[in-house]
Amino acid sequence: MSEVDNNAKVATPRAFEADVSRLLHLMVHSIYSDRDIFVRELISNAADACEKLRYEALANPALKQEDSQFSIEITADKAAKTLQFADNGIGMSETELASALGTIASSGTKAFLDKLGASEGEGKVAPELIGQFGIGFYSAFMVASRVEVFSRRAGEAGAHVWRSEGKGNYTIEPVDVAQAPVHGSRVVLHMSDEALEYLESYRIEGIVREHSGAVAIPIDFIEEPGKEPRRIGEGVALWAKPKSAVTEAEYKDFYQSLAGQFDEPALTMHWHAEGRHEYHALAFIPGSRPMDLFDPARKSRAKLYVRRVLITGDAHILPGWLRFVRSVVDSSDLPLNVSREMIQESPVFGAIQKGVTNRVVQDLTKLAETDAQAYGKIWDNFGAVIKEGLYEDYERRDALLKLARFATASAPDGKTTLAEYIAGLKENQTAIYYLVGEDIKRLASSPQLEGFRARGIEVLLLPDAVDAFWVQNAVGYEGKPFKSVTQGAADIKSIPLKEGSEPEPAAEVSAAIAGLLTRMKQVLGDEVADVRVSERLSTSAACLVAPESGPDRRLERMLAEHGQLGGISKPVLEINPGHALMTKLGAASDDAFVEDAIWLVYDEARLMDGERPNDAAAFAGRLARVLTRAAG
Ligand code: ADP
Repeated sequence: MSEVDNNAKVATPRAFEADVSRLLHLMVHSIYSDRDIFVRELISNAADACEKLRYEALANPALKQEDSQFSIEITADKAAKTLQFADNGIGMSETELASALGTIASSGTKAFLDKLGASEGEGKVAPELIGQFGIGFYSAFMVASRVEVFSRRAGEAGAHVWRSEGKGNYTIEPVDVAQAPVHGSRVVLHMSDEALEYLESYRIEGIVREHSGAVAIPIDFIEEPGKEPRRIGEGVALWAKPKSAVTEAEYKDFYQSLAGQFDEPALTMHWHAEGRHEYHALAFIPGSRPMDLFDPARKSRAKLYVRRVLITGDAHILPGWLRFVRSVVDSSDLPLNVSREMIQESPVFGAIQKGVTNRVVQDLTKLAETDAQAYGKIWDNFGAVIKEGLYEDYERRDALLKLARFATASAPDGKTTLAEYIAGLKENQTAIYYLVGEDIKRLASSPQLEGFRARGIEVLLLPDAVDAFWVQNAVGYEGKPFKSVTQGAADIKSIPLKEGSEPEPAAEVSAAIAGLLTRMKQVLGDEVADVRVSERLSTSAACLVAPESGPDRRLERMLAEHGQLGGISKPVLEINPGHALMTKLGAASDDAFVEDAIWLVYDEARLMDGERPNDAAAFAGRLARVLTRAAG
């Protein structure tokens, strides 16, 4: 048996990083719906290794064996019950073996583990959750009871073997170079008894054709040791083919290996730019949200090739607000003989960034016009990210405002465009009204909307964190400024009420209400900037608004939470003088009771605004006193 080392010395076992052990445990103990994916994961690693060497050999041609064409070779051996994946790529040194196959580097995998941990017990994992994300090399343990990786780093004299049974630890030892490729890796899977089907040639061939047909490195299959290799993957770069020569299934496979996701792309964009700059580009909008969508780094990642040589998998081609797009760009006119960093600073790269971004925005716009439903799904998944562009990308702001879709007070589940909003403006309405907050349901039931509803004025409901920011900077749309319904007194009095709506609160308040206002100011003191009669309420008793010239309340709170503001300005409490509670309080004479009630009105307004009562204990005490009194 080849894996028995002639050295008498036993290699010291090394422990996997805790996350690897968790992942392995999950993989082995959960009923995996689709074990086939290990083939794709190992092929994808082998192809990456070839592309890495191709790049390094640009600067150092001696690294690559003169006559070796890059290829991936799969060998099945029924007698030995092994399946082997060999590549002549970059290979791994001893330290690289330990870090690459003993830890988890990919942030997507980490996020995946966190999500699993958060969602349910480790033993029982929803297969659709597991099946949605790529899990890399460790997927080999779904089918193998033991895995060996013989590897030789290009340019190094020695070779090493990594071995593990996937149970908490692994070993690494030097081996004879004859056991490893000239440069590259040979991954040997000792198949478990339930996975022997993968040694049948039709199985491997079928999986490779189905899932790895678009890999840019050729794939050969050896049915049995000693037999001639048979080419089962052509190794043609999919992005360089004309669109008409690529099938939907090929696009889908390519997308899945590019994104490490197992869903369908929601939009596929494939084009060949000619003229001043020539490049091939293939970009996908995922069908579901990637795990790291809200990663604080907010970085986009694209694969950048220059004339088929992979320069980096991490090129910042698209802006942060399009970071969910998965893309490959292969340029014909970027320089190959300079560093990765210099390539990305060249003006040609700048032109590619601009061209690709414009194309994505243009294709999204086209889809929004032709297939509202498909576009709506994309907006549901990524709208909150696209909106970041509204304050980051001045140049494209108008295009992005056209792409934006909104929930509104009258259609909280809908997707209204700004054009539709403008078309529905009421007589004398001069602004686009909005309300920012945390979630749609709460926004839709906010008392702030009452006066607007009574007039049939539409209000945009903005539930995303980014909304408070862009809406402050947006100049407006078709000449109409954006205006928060919580800012100052709403200037909606000149807009007529709908028929059947509650009458306006009288401009002249009764002496009782005037007295109540004074009493409220006394009681609430420093808590509020002012207490006044509202023009926006028709059914609720009270609400909080920002002072006349103050910023939107939610924006202020967000800035304060991020430590960007020293404090928050005091709100104005507005009351509805027509509400029975206010008329009764105005007429009440029991001072202690009125004081309790005033605090409760204020705390209730805070609650409606997404804040907590100032003093929970005092709140509870007051509520108990008032209810006791009401109960008689
Ligand atoms: P990922 O490919 O997403 O980084 P994997 O778990 O599949 O995650 O692989 C971990 C790392 O192991 C890779 O990033 C790579 O550095 C290394 N690796 C895996 N297979 C090979 C291989 N055949 N040749 C060289 N390096 C490899």
